[in-house]
Amino acid sequence: MSNIEQTLSIIKPDAVERNLDNKIKSIFIQEGFKILKEKKIKLEKEDAEKFYKVHETKPFYNDLCEYLSSGPVVAMILEKEDAILSNRKIMGATDPKKADEGTIRKKFGISIDRNSVHGSDSIDNAKVEINFFFRD
Ligand code: ATP
Ligand code: MG
Repeated sequence: MSNIEQTLSIIKPDAVERNLDNKIKSIFIQEGFKILKEKKIKLEKEDAEKFYKVHETKPFYNDLCEYLSSGPVVAMILEKEDAILSNRKIMGATDPKKADEGTIRKKFGISIDRNSVHGSDSIDNAKVEINFFFRD
């Protein structure tokens, strides 16, 4: 049975800054994702705090929000069979040093806090995150 899902992907400031957005988008397209919507925006720190609210109690929360709002990001709605898991696989582990060969974070990530991409981690979070960027 088919299980077409939508997930939210963000190309983070470290990657946009290095003009990697088209390269990363072409990886998703090559992997069979449809990019249903996309926009390039610069978040305010308060937006980043809202987006990463689940990490509010973590020691890295403030730096994480400073970073996500430090420059433009490209947010995309990606659609594919099992999109959420498939995107997480293509992204690779949170820490680029631990990411598998061929993954986006292995190829482009600089460090655990400059890891080039975000991807929703569940169906519920995908809905919330898609709505966060594309509610209009
Ligand atoms: P993302 O949510 O950005 O897709 P993830 O799901 O792989 O990443 P999370 O555990 O949700 O990882 O962490 C969110 C972000 O917080 C990570 O992308 C990373 O940049 C940052 N982060 C996570 N753990 C650490 C850490 N130990 N030190 C510094 N930053 C961290
Ligand atoms: Mg996460």
